[in-house]
Amino acid sequence: MAQGVPDEVMMNTALIKELADVAKDAALLQGVLMRIQETPNSSEVVTYAPFTLFPTPVPKAVFLQALAVQTHYNTLVDMISQDPDFLQEALASTIAVDDFTARLFRIHQQILKEGRSQSIVLGLNRSDYMLDQRDDRSSSLKQIEINTFAASFGGLSSRTPDVHRHILKVAGSLEESQRILDNNPAAGLARAVAKAWELYGSEKAIVMFLVEESQRNIFDQRYIESELWKRNIPTKRKRFDDVSKTGYLDQDKRLFVDAQEVAVVYFRNGYMPQNYTSEQTWDARLLMERSLAVKCPDISTHLAGTKKVQQVLARPGVLEKFFPDQPQVVEQIRATFAGLYTLDMGPEGDKTVAMALAAPEGFVLKPQREGGGNNIYGSEICQVLQEVKGSAERMAYILMDKIRPVPVQNYLLRRDAPLQISNCLSELGVFGVYVRQGKDMVMNDCVGHLLRTKSSEHSDGGVAAGVAVLDNPLLV
Ligand code: ADP
Ligand code: MG
Repeated sequence: MAQGVPDEVMMNTALIKELADVAKDAALLQGVLMRIQETPNSSEVVTYAPFTLFPTPVPKAVFLQALAVQTHYNTLVDMISQDPDFLQEALASTIAVDDFTARLFRIHQQILKEGRSQSIVLGLNRSDYMLDQRDDRSSSLKQIEINTFAASFGGLSSRTPDVHRHILKVAGSLEESQRILDNNPAAGLARAVAKAWELYGSEKAIVMFLVEESQRNIFDQRYIESELWKRNIPTKRKRFDDVSKTGYLDQDKRLFVDAQEVAVVYFRNGYMPQNYTSEQTWDARLLMERSLAVKCPDISTHLAGTKKVQQVLARPGVLEKFFPDQPQVVEQIRATFAGLYTLDMGPEGDKTVAMALAAPEGFVLKPQREGGGNNIYGSEICQVLQEVKGSAERMAYILMDKIRPVPVQNYLLRRDAPLQISNCLSELGVFGVYVRQGKDMVMNDCVGHLLRTKSSEHSDGGVAAGVAVLDNPLLV
C-alpha cells in the first residue's frame, strides 16, 4: 500500500470515484483553489487546484536531508548575490548569447554602478529535488533547481495536508492519515516579508505584489497577503503597467506607485522574457531595482537563481570558495548536486556535447528559462545540439544528468480530466526564507515544503503549466 491505502482501494473503480468526489469537495472546503482558465481575472467561478487523490511515499531520511540543507542554500544564494565578480564570471558566456539574461545583467551592472540604495535583503527561495533511484533501490536527493524568483505554491500547500488526511480517513487508513505532516509555508513566507517591511520602517508603506496579467493562481498569493493583513501590514496587487504609468522615485529614492509608498516589492511576475511586453516594462523593472524598496528578489538574487550559476556551483572548488571554513556545509550541499555540465566553447564543452549525443536519454538540456516547458529531452537533445554544437549559441544551455525517481501509481485530480490511474513522478520543494540588513542575517529559516506530482508521460512542467499537481509526502 504505497500511497497509504491498500491495493484493493487503488483498484476499486467505484470506490475511487466516490473518494475523488469527496476529495474535490475537501479541497474546495480547505481553500485549495484556482481560478478557471476561461476567467483568469475573476473569482465568480473557481475550481480546485489540481491535486493527487492520495499522498506519495517519501523516505523520511531524504525528506529530512532536504529540510536540513535549506538554510545553507539560503546563505549560498545570498552570498552569490553579493559577489559581483562571481556573477560576472559565471554568466559571461551566457550573456554573450542569451538576450534575456544579458538584459537582466545590464540592470544588475547599472545598480552596482549607482550603488545599492537599500541594505535590507529579502529572500524567498524554493529548492526543488527529485529522488534518484540508486541500484540498491534506495533513493538519493538530487536538486533540480533553486527558485529565487516567484517560487509559488507556498500558499496552497499550506492547505493540502487536511485534504489528504480527510481522504485517507474516508478510505479507512486512519493511521496513515495521522502521518501527513503539518505544513505552513504561507506563514513562514509572510513572516519574512513582514520582517523586511518592519525594518523598512514606515507604517503606511505597502507590500506590493507585482503580479501577472492573468491571475489564475491568485489564491496561492492571497494566503500570504492574508497573513500580512493579520499583522496589519497593508498589501496591494499591482502590475508592471501600474508601475510604468504611476511609479516614481522621490529624492530619497523612495518608490511610490499609485501615490502609495512601497516598502517591499514582492515579484510574482517578471521571470520570463514574455513578461516584458515593452520597453516600458523594462523601465519599470529598473525603476523598482533602483528604489529604496526592498526587492524580493533584487536583481542580483534573481541572477543567482539562473541555471548557469547552478552549473558553475557544481564545478570542483567553487562551493569551497563560498564556505572556506565549513567543509561539512560544502559536503551537505554538494551531496544534493546532480551531474551538471558546461556547454561553453572549448574542449570541456565539446566533451559535454559528445557525451549528450552518445546517450541523450541520460540527460536534460536546459536553456536559461523559468516557468516550465523549456527544457529539452531525449532525441530532441540531439536535434538541438547538432544545430548549435559548432557555434557560441550552445552556451545558452547547460546539460544536466536526468534524475530517475521510482514511479508511483496515483490518481491526478484535475478539472475536466478523466479519472484514471497514472504512473507518477514527484518533485519535492523546500521553502527557505532569509532577511539580511547590511551584514546582519536577521532571519534564515526553512519554512515548509511542497510536493508536486506528474504523470511519468510528461518530462517537464509544473502545476501552473497544467502538468504537475499538488501532493503531500507520506513519510516512510
Ligand atoms: P523551470 O525553471 O522551467 O521550472 P526546471 O529545471 O525546474 O525548470 O525543470 C522543469 C521540470 O523538468 C522539473 O519540474 C522536472 O519535472 C523536469 N526536470 C528538470 N530537470 C530534470 C532532471 N535533471 N531530471 C529529470 N527531470 C528534470
Ligand atoms: Mg522548476
